[in-house]
Amino acid sequence: MALIVQKYGGTSVGDLDRISGVAQRVQRYRSEGHDVVVVVSAMSGETNRLVGMGQEIAGGTPDPREMDVLTSSGEQVTIALLSIALQRLRVAARSLLGDQVAIRTDSAFGRARIQNIDTERLRGILSQGVVPVVAGFQGVDEGGNVTTLGRGGSDTSAVALAAALSADECEICTDVDGVYTTDPRLVEAARRLDYITFEEMLELASLGSKVLHPRSVEFAGRYRVPLRVMSTFEDGPGTLITIESENMEQPLVSGIAHARDEAKITVAGVPDIPGIASKILGPVGNANIEVDMIVQNTGADGLTDFTFTVKRQDYEQALELLEPVVQEIGAREINGDNEIAKVSIVGVGMRSHAGVATRTFDCLASENINIQMISTSEIKISVVVAEKYMELAVRALHAEFDLQDA
Ligand code: ADP
Ligand code: ASP
Ligand code: MG
Repeated sequence: MALIVQKYGGTSVGDLDRISGVAQRVQRYRSEGHDVVVVVSAMSGETNRLVGMGQEIAGGTPDPREMDVLTSSGEQVTIALLSIALQRLRVAARSLLGDQVAIRTDSAFGRARIQNIDTERLRGILSQGVVPVVAGFQGVDEGGNVTTLGRGGSDTSAVALAAALSADECEICTDVDGVYTTDPRLVEAARRLDYITFEEMLELASLGSKVLHPRSVEFAGRYRVPLRVMSTFEDGPGTLITIESENMEQPLVSGIAHARDEAKITVAGVPDIPGIASKILGPVGNANIEVDMIVQNTGADGLTDFTFTVKRQDYEQALELLEPVVQEIGAREINGDNEIAKVSIVGVGMRSHAGVATRTFDCLASENINIQMISTSEIKISVVVAEKYMELAVRALHAEFDLQDA
């Protein structure tokens, strides 16, 4: 008998029939003798709907505290519905909000980090043979305020609970049957992986692969939580996220991620003197806008162009913040492009093999795709391309690195 934490995402609980289906799946595990803690997301589309309402009524940027009260409500609905569905099947179940568990976070509304989980209540419920059904995505701060963990954050709720309970496995049950070499909705030839290392999965998730929330992978790696991505709807082994082992086959490239929601800003003709980067990026950072890639190039005339990328949702605000800075530092102009995308190839095998970058650039060149920015680390290469070429770039690189073949 094992203790298993199972997380069901938005599509898996998308309507009442699907919620009943999840209840049956949980019942099966219970009848096999396992202890189960269930974590659920809001019904698919619900969080978007709530965010939209908040933005509409604010007519501008809504108060983050109130947005968290609003957006966390989607999960309250699904924990109650699933608990009722389980009870109908005579499986004892009890719904719990993040606060009731208690999942304690910091106070960064909209992107809070889990600091501590009190497992006493959960263990008490489990010991009575009852299935706790926990609201994902939410927590509570020291002041008792409801917080949320960032979009897709229910994965992190599940892994954090699994870590706190020392569960035997954390299953992320979703609408695909595992982690693929790239998003199977973009490339039909994508192949399911039996295993992927924490390190590679963390890169893929951070670089835009929506299948797992980046922080969930971080948690799983840090606390050694056996983590599996699998289908809610069909049986199968899924993909195990695992530590690197010597006898594991290490392909050059394990996966390709894409992120559509990017934008870039260039401050051009900047005097090349100390302090410029901090003058440009300071106000952006102070506004809590996350800067991703940064490129600076000095020309022969002693002037430099400073380019960086931000999330598309932060693009307008970043441009506005930089208007006065451009004047202040005597830059020639500022311009930007919010129709760009980032494509990244990831693989631990890159460490020991040269030539991956050249192959990547040659492949994109042969498709006539212009590379606007490049960033590399030990196990990844990311390029920024025009958004309209993103899909082509992913497909071409997928073929170039033979990812469709086992
Ligand atoms: P959930 O609502 O269950 O959390 P998500 O939509 O957040 O599900 O994540 C699952 C989706 O992630 C899949 O439907 C798929 O389109 C997408 N995805 C992106 N990259 C990958 C990948 N490498 N492998 C599998 N799925 C991926
Ligand atoms: N419901 C939240 C979202 O849509 C959290 C999650 O699904 O993981 O982002
Ligand atoms: Mg998700």
